[in-house]
Amino acid sequence: MAIARGYAATDASKPLAPFTFERREPRDDDVVIDIKYCGVCHSDIHQARDEWGNSTFPMVPGHEIVGLVRAVGSKVTKFKIGDRVGVGCFVDSCTTCATRDLDLEQYLPGLVVTYNGVEAGGTPTQGGYSDHIVVKEGYVLSIPENLPLDAAAPLLCAGITLYSPLRHWEAGPGKKVAIVGMGGLGHMGVKLAHAMGAEVTVLSQTLSKKEDGLKLGADHYYATKDPETFTKLAGSFDLIICTVAAEIDWNAYLNLLKIDGDLVLVGIPENPVPVHAFSLVPARRSISGSMIGSIKETQEMLDFCGEHGIASEIEMIEIGQINEAYERVVRSDVRYRFVIDMASLKA
Ligand code: ZN
Repeated sequence: MAIARGYAATDASKPLAPFTFERREPRDDDVVIDIKYCGVCHSDIHQARDEWGNSTFPMVPGHEIVGLVRAVGSKVTKFKIGDRVGVGCFVDSCTTCATRDLDLEQYLPGLVVTYNGVEAGGTPTQGGYSDHIVVKEGYVLSIPENLPLDAAAPLLCAGITLYSPLRHWEAGPGKKVAIVGMGGLGHMGVKLAHAMGAEVTVLSQTLSKKEDGLKLGADHYYATKDPETFTKLAGSFDLIICTVAAEIDWNAYLNLLKIDGDLVLVGIPENPVPVHAFSLVPARRSISGSMIGSIKETQEMLDFCGEHGIASEIEMIEIGQINEAYERVVRSDVRYRFVIDMASLKA
């Protein structure tokens, strides 16, 4: 056992505070990672505050983890000491059922999430707001050499959350893609869809981030506060990816799709999504959901980002600023992802 230092929520109503805990003794197939940076995902906040009703405490959040390999087990073949690596939203999954070969492990029972989960053997998992982590080789990703480590951290959740549906619904040349919301997820959607060759439109509440959106690769930018947006763009898009968790007029957005268009949810609104059959039936439209991506697809996304020089737009913070950062994420006051510099743990 090695002692790890981090920041934890000790219950849903308390701010995160310094916390010391034990990481498991590395096994033959484990990689020990010195964490350099960890992104701050909105789902960290939901879980630290038990807003999904499934939280266990104490909880060290963080699933946008990047760092350097400190040590490897005797059977590890893909990584060596000093390699630049990442860990995303899960650290183990079902290894027995047949569907394992489909590279869809994120959807299978048996998924072990990076924190607020339980490993085989019953130990709670603890995430990346900490100095190191021990992870099975098969769940460790390589970070391309040309990407800055800090700005690469959010790729591990925000990046793959957008990459997977863009690939699955075949965003590319000749396709019109709309990204709803211009936050941590949305801005990654703009960059990725643009790099895939799609014509990209941002649908945001206001035009306050228009300049950024166009700079990051959007071809068009519309305010959803303006009702004219919905008349002007009716029947325009092949694919709309909704990154917001707000209650929006779903039927109005569905009406922006072409025949056979898809509206894909990656944000998770608290309430049921009311959809009128007339928003779907007369144009054979679909509404779907998508959650992160497999390990194989996550590595493919990282390699794609390496080739295209894509990383996240970040605001670096020290770990002591985490509670203030949470408040700002809740207010959507971040451009566009907070990343914690883990060197600040030692300060
Ligand atoms: Zn996340």
